[in-house]
Amino acid sequence: MAFVGFEESKEVRQLAESIIDEHHPHLKDAKQQIGFYLREGNSKWAGKAKKCTAFERHMTDYMLFVFINKAAWKAMPEEQRAALVDHELCHFTREEWEEPDPKDQRKWVKVYGSATDPDSWGIREHDVEEFSEIIERHGLWDTGIETFAEAVREADHQLTISDVQRLSRVK
Ligand SMILES: [Zn+2]
Repeated sequence: MAFVGFEESKEVRQLAESIIDEHHPHLKDAKQQIGFYLREGNSKWAGKAKKCTAFERHMTDYMLFVFINKAAWKAMPEEQRAALVDHELCHFTREEWEEPDPKDQRKWVKVYGSATDPDSWGIREHDVEEFSEIIERHGLWDTGIETFAEAVREADHQLTISDVQRLSRVK
């Protein structure tokens, strides 16, 4: 059984929080409900987004998890890290509805389900092979980004940054 380890990552959280502020309004008040972890050990994916089970909520107090493959993270330049984390955040959906604006009854405002209610949260699959908004924000290079780690694992040598860029285009 190969070693698998998890560590909470301030580095991933920091990047995620800045991306949330810019692009994910439905996550802005829920940053503390998401756990960000680096996962050490082989995996077929570079990143994974998950809604916590009841037991995982009990153990961690989080509602949602983002897992990032540690080897992939270490090999990625900053802009690829941003695309990967942005991608994972795109998987999270939240219940939302419109209510009359308390300040101006003629207007409607968007209201989100409680960040600490598990029923508020959901996971969506990719709308195309890649989320269209990720392509808009980061370009086409990252299509198949979640399978990036597989390419890392299969390449039997230490990857340089140009290798990383080449591999992420191939996948
Ligand atoms: Zn995905």
